[in-house]
This record gives sequence, structure tokens and C-alpha cells, in this order.
Amino acid sequence: MLALTLFSTKILAQDSLKVKQCGTPDVPMAELQKEFYFGNNDSLYRLLARLPQIHQTLLQQHGIIADRVWRDDDPSIIWSVPVTFWAYIASTGEYPAAHRNAQSVIDELNRNFTKSRLPIRFYQVCDVNMVVNTSFVSPTTESLWDAVINSHHREATLNIHLVNSLGIGLNGIWHMRQDNRKNAVFLTRAVTTDGSTSTHEVGHFFELKHTDNGYAQRDECITEPVSRTRTWNILPCFSKWLNSNLMCNSTGDALCDTPADPCLGFFDMILLNECGFGNKKIRDLYGDSYYYPPAGASQPDVSNFMSNMLERSCRNKFSDGQRGIIVSSFTSGRNVSNSAAWSSPVVRFDTYEPDHRPQTARRIAIEEKQLHTFHKASFGNFLTDCDVDYVYFDVPLWGRYTVFTSAEIGKTHANTIIRLMALRTA
Ligand SMILES: [Zn+2]
Repeated sequence: MLALTLFSTKILAQDSLKVKQCGTPDVPMAELQKEFYFGNNDSLYRLLARLPQIHQTLLQQHGIIADRVWRDDDPSIIWSVPVTFWAYIASTGEYPAAHRNAQSVIDELNRNFTKSRLPIRFYQVCDVNMVVNTSFVSPTTESLWDAVINSHHREATLNIHLVNSLGIGLNGIWHMRQDNRKNAVFLTRAVTTDGSTSTHEVGHFFELKHTDNGYAQRDECITEPVSRTRTWNILPCFSKWLNSNLMCNSTGDALCDTPADPCLGFFDMILLNECGFGNKKIRDLYGDSYYYPPAGASQPDVSNFMSNMLERSCRNKFSDGQRGIIVSSFTSGRNVSNSAAWSSPVVRFDTYEPDHRPQTARRIAIEEKQLHTFHKASFGNFLTDCDVDYVYFDVPLWGRYTVFTSAEIGKTHANTIIRLMALRTA
């Protein structure tokens, strides 16, 4: 009896290893095959090289002839993406951390996109929208995700829904409604501070696929081989061979610069408590080892933002091909219609954003000078004025302090009202 129990447990464990547990579904090959970079990754590198030229063209569209600095801290920003946050609560006033969660998400996105040398930054449009709706607090089915998007969506912005839970094993998803093409990111509160999940889901918003795309199929016309030089066998996959003779740019995620990935969402794939691939046994459909890859190939990349890596803190980079896809989403892809509004120079936000609330106030030290701007939000044909900035400062008791304000050089002095909001003693 005991032996039988152990035996069946083992079978179950092996079966569960074959199940893919990743949130956003695989992109079918028929769809991937329509991408301009399918079979031709060089087109992505050429697009990246054209960024300065794209910058100039967009400046001219806004009537700006000479190049100008949009943000003092980083002159190369091209697109400032407005983000609308929705937070769901069962009754009024139950989610006071929502403002800080939204701030963490924006901070993570800006940190990771800066580090990835992408000319894209994110800002929060106005306040977090608090919605009292019991069934949206933990939406665990696709029809509920559809319902959320249908009732709470701001056009021409990136919509992020902050929820309690999304179902077992799911912490973040990017979801597209099939009927009206509206799409949004969903994040559980827990992952807003993990450093990579927001970036991963926003990667899907910019049309990136998982690095293990197509692995579950175990099909030689779909699943990416470990080798970077393996070429198509013309007979079984004739239509693929028409696109390219190289397999790595026309299987998996269709990118040769992301290594073949056997789904890193399982304990037996990774080194626990450190960032590394750990499965010495697994081989691809041609017998090549993922752990000891052939010359010119690499182990599965546990640091790629688009991997389903179990240890989320390991993810910290986009490949160049992925950077090209993100840019193409603005120049020829799903976000092309937003490209002009999102490059508007009226959106010139400071590095302390978002700081719309006392809970998200950033610290200003004694003697420190900070530049805060009051910018508009630009989405579609709308311009909204709703920027509010909070700061806080620590002082020893019994001192006397003077607060100085001044206009930015070359700008008119804004009417400034300074309110001392609260005295907090340590
Ligand atoms: Zn994903």
C-alpha cells in the first residue's frame, strides 16, 4: 500500500513538470510568422540604429525644429508613456497602499527601461483610480479580466489593474480582449515591488513574447533549438524554410539573441537561491544539451525579463532584438497610433514622479535643491492637467527653517503655494 502511494506520487510529480504554468499564453506560430523580424533579426538592429532619426522626425511633427532636451536628467527620451492605474477594493478606503504600489511599478519601469537604454519612460496619469467592486478584487478567470477591461479602461494609455490575486500561480498577466483589441496589464499587490514582474508584463504590452515561446509544443517546426547555427530541414517545415534557412530566428520567440529556453518556471530547471540554469539532463529535439550548449550557443537566460524565471529577482535585461521589438511597437506596431501623443513635449515630468499623494512624497534633504515640474498628461487627443507634487523633509526639533522656491532658468515663475501638511515626530 505504501509502495503504491509513493509510486503514484512520483508519476504525478513527473506529469506536473510537463505542464506549462506561465500566465500570458504562447503566441501561435501563425501569428509570429507575420512579424517583420521573423526570419530576419537584422531588421530589428537596423531599427535601433535609426533612433536618433526617429527622434528628429517626431520633434518636427510637434513643430520643434532644433533638438531640445525634454528632461534634464535624460535628453534622449522619445516616448513618455501615460499609465492609468486602477485599484480594486471591496469597500471604501481599504487599500491605502495602492498609491505606493503604483509608485513602485512606475519606479521599476523607469529604472529598468533606463538601464536597458530604451528611450521610453512612464508616468502616472493623475491619481490612482480606486474602484469599489467586490468581484474585481481578485479576478481569477478570463471572463472577469474581460469584464474589468470593459468597464475600466482609459484609451491611449497603458492601463494597469492592481488586484489582490489572479488565481493559483499567477501574479501578473497581460491580457487582450479578443473582441475589441483593448488590452491591459494585471498585477497582484505582492509583485509590485519584486523588481521585474511589472517590466515583464509591460514587455508583453510592447509585443514581446516569452523566451520559452513554443517550447511546450515540442514540435520541430515551432520549438527553438539550442544551436544558433542549425538550419531548416526543408521537408517537414517548408513554409518556415521560405522565411529563413536559420532556425533560431524562426522558432521559439523568433529571436536568435535570446537562447533557447525550456521554461524556467520549475524548481528542477534552476539553481535555487542563486541566478543560474541548473538542469544538466534536458536536451532539445536534436539531442543538444541546454546546460552544455554547442559552440556559439548559450545556456537558457535566467536574467531575461521575458523568461518565466521562478526567481523573479534574477531578471534584469532585454536583449537587443527585444529592444528593437519594443521600439517597433511605437513605429509600426500596436502602439503606432499613440506614438505622436506620447512624444509630446508638454509631457516633461521630473524624476520625482509619481508623487501625487502624501503617501508617495519623496524626501528632500536640508540644503537640497529639487526641480519639480508641473506637466500635462497627453493621450490620444486629450491633454489633462492634474499634476500635484508632494515632498517631505526631516528636521531636528526646535530649529527654524526657510523654504526657498525659484523658477527654472529660462521659465516663468510658477504661482507656488507651499503648505506645511503635518508634523511627524520620530
Ligand atoms: Zn509573460
